[in-house]
Amino acid sequence: MLGFVLGYVVFTAYMAMTPKVSVIEFIVSMVFFGGGIFCVMIFSVVSQSMERIAFAEFQQRHNESHDSLTGLPNRRFLLQTINQHISDFETTQQRFAVATVDINNFNHINEIFGHQAGDSVLYQYSERLREFVEQDIFLARTSGNRFTFIITSPETTNVTQYIETIQAYLDHPLTINDHDVNLTSTVGVALYPEHGATAEDILKRSEIAMYSAKRIQVPYAVYEAASYRQFYDKVELAQMLQVAMENMDFDLYFQPVLNVNKTHKTTFEVLIRWPLGNGCSVSPDEFIPIAEQTNVIQQITRWVLKKTITQLAEWSEKGMSPHVQVNLSVKDIEDDSLEPFLSQLLKDYTIDPSQLTLEITETSMMQNPKKAQTVLEKIKKLGVSLSIDDFGTGFSSLSILSNMPIDEIKIDRSFVTDLLYSSNHEAIVRSTIYLAHSLECSVVAEGVETEALGQYLMSIGCDKIQGFWYGRPMNLAQADTWLRDVHMINHRVASQN
Ligand code: C2E
Ligand code: CA
Ligand code: CA
Repeated sequence: MLGFVLGYVVFTAYMAMTPKVSVIEFIVSMVFFGGGIFCVMIFSVVSQSMERIAFAEFQQRHNESHDSLTGLPNRRFLLQTINQHISDFETTQQRFAVATVDINNFNHINEIFGHQAGDSVLYQYSERLREFVEQDIFLARTSGNRFTFIITSPETTNVTQYIETIQAYLDHPLTINDHDVNLTSTVGVALYPEHGATAEDILKRSEIAMYSAKRIQVPYAVYEAASYRQFYDKVELAQMLQVAMENMDFDLYFQPVLNVNKTHKTTFEVLIRWPLGNGCSVSPDEFIPIAEQTNVIQQITRWVLKKTITQLAEWSEKGMSPHVQVNLSVKDIEDDSLEPFLSQLLKDYTIDPSQLTLEITETSMMQNPKKAQTVLEKIKKLGVSLSIDDFGTGFSSLSILSNMPIDEIKIDRSFVTDLLYSSNHEAIVRSTIYLAHSLECSVVAEGVETEALGQYLMSIGCDKIQGFWYGRPMNLAQADTWLRDVHMINHRVASQN
């Protein structure tokens, strides 16, 4: 086209300088004239189309990142922006807060006035929010009746005061179909970097804080780790567990067990903990079933066994040799490679196998009794003892029980706790003690919380007592102190005799 325009200009100049125009020259000039008009048309069509394409692209990008009702950025755009703040933090060290505002009882508005009125409320509410938040505050509509904004300098802005002011501003009636409707809101706040490492974490936790505030009926709340577990579903816990597994972010706790006839002998049950920070942790009752479903339980069991045996070796170097009980999962007693693994560990750390008992719940043993029997017999041959945990909850039959290579029965807490007040449970506990002794097994009562209960259990022949009365689960430092104390007492008693 450029060539054509150039040719046209040159030819026009030539024509202007030529006084007499021949027929050929006239025809050529007409061609150039028509072509020129054609070029101008093409040029204008092309430029208009380009403008339209650019506008459509802009519209598409805008629609992907904005909410169509309020025109505010959407959740996706918000997450991108939080991510940007997170990467800026590395250089600027600029903390920020994410606040989620939820309009209370919004569904009532939809139900009473209809969805169109509901949309109008959302639009007016968003306008109100937009008016309030300053220009540089990023505001998004994150879902139906929920808005989220970022406060970029929580050090200079008093966050809670800011939230109180915004709520006072927002919680005014709005007019719907000539009616004044009172609106209230609940706000949840999470801070970066204190409350999470990723944009998703921070946003989610501001929502969790908002839910906590609703639950305890306060207008706003700042995220607290303790509230966190109640709002994470199994899928999220499974994802978090995967991350914890990569670093083996677990701890071991040790609960002392009283050996009624050998009080000088210390026994600990090893209990796993998954700490989340801020002093709170996920209970094994919550995460072990997830670990079983996601097949990471084998790794956990091996980690617990290795850590326990390493600890036994350390205690042994200090002249202390407690007995330890480790819990196995249902998946472990279907796992043929557990026995060689354990055997190697015992050899590597030169641990006396009689220092170790493995606990299997009655329910897991009953899932596949034949397989359980084979695996347990192999383990038993290593010299390790075996205990049936939560006994009384798993419907085992006497014939199966008598074939299992077991050394101990642990009566489930549910029968023990109310023993002094329930004649049924008393009968169950007494007959379990009788049954266990007939099978040449010792008996442990779990969940003993009071001295009266402990004394009574001892009087009816219970061999071991476990529960908060004798001792709560302790961390390693506390278990170490417990062990040293028992060791010193034993030493003193021995030297007096
Ligand atoms: P469990 O084997 O029956 O362990 C005893 C549980 O009862 C522990 O809870 C302990 O803290 C609690 N407990 C002890 N004494 C008392 C008491 O007097 N009163 C009350 N109310 N509770 C008492 P924890 O540590 O939360 O463990 C829960 C369960 O998680 C365990 O029940 C066990 O089945 C499982 N678990 C714990 N650690 C492991 C592990 O390393 N591997 C596997 N597979 N399971 C584990
Ligand atoms: Ca146990
Ligand atoms: Ca138990």
